[in-house]
Amino acid sequence: MSAAGPGSTGPQGAEVSPSGSAPVAIATAPSRRWRRAVLKISGEALASEANNETIDAMVVHRMAKEIAETVMELGTELAVMVGGGNIWRGSTGQGEGIDRATSDTMGMLGTVINALALQDAIEREGQPTRVLSAISMAEVCEPYIRRRAVRHLEKGRVVIFAAGMGQPYFTTDTPAALRAAEIEAQVILKGTHSGVDGVYDADPRLNAGAQRFDEIGFMEVVARDLRVMDLTAITFCRDNRLPILVFDLMTPGNIRTALSGEAIGTLIR
Ligand code: UDP
Repeated sequence: MSAAGPGSTGPQGAEVSPSGSAPVAIATAPSRRWRRAVLKISGEALASEANNETIDAMVVHRMAKEIAETVMELGTELAVMVGGGNIWRGSTGQGEGIDRATSDTMGMLGTVINALALQDAIEREGQPTRVLSAISMAEVCEPYIRRRAVRHLEKGRVVIFAAGMGQPYFTTDTPAALRAAEIEAQVILKGTHSGVDGVYDADPRLNAGAQRFDEIGFMEVVARDLRVMDLTAITFCRDNRLPILVFDLMTPGNIRTALSGEAIGTLIR
């Protein structure tokens, strides 16, 4: 099932057919579709229900290894926006009785913990990283400065964005979109951890007949109320012509597939 998007411009190393249908990699760089990307990883993707771990070292290691290997192999400039839902999620009302702005700040601090776990794991694989936090904590990591983020990427470091955008009343979806626009990333890779491998016309966990879109337009996502990302993030991406690739993060090999431009998940554009 495919809902054609409007775009005709593909990222460097790829072309998109004029009809807006499946992306076509050009012969010279078939395995380097995205030159610069933001990968959104939910905090819950780092947890493990089976082991009752807030941060499961095995899961983090698997993801970090794939990120490091892919970046080194493809040369993709990659920034990761990591969430904090495995630790604290103010946006869903966790912490009843706690002031919302305070609760959200606790959530942002949770993302810093996850960012440090990812940093450690990615660097163990030999890939340099920098954590850039939207809330200053000079003893722990660098502050987020746009030009510094870009410079790190140019030097081949994986940038890990921590503390979302440093403001309450948001989740990390919107800062993922904001940072992607700021650093001129070509795509947001939204990795899911729920077993849903793209955007469907109905919840595939509840409806066996649900159909997955290969592509879908921003407006249709909004009109159908398909909850793939926060609405604020979706409309921001629409306004700034930033495509979002939704894919299953938990299947080994998928990060590589997503970054290399091979068909996977659903492209929203
Ligand atoms: N948060 C925030 N501002 C931001 C980013 C995050 O206030 O810019 C808070 C918010 O309470 C959110 C929590 O941090 O619920 C954790 O982030 P998120 O819910 O996005 O984590 P994820 O679901 O991706 O694990």
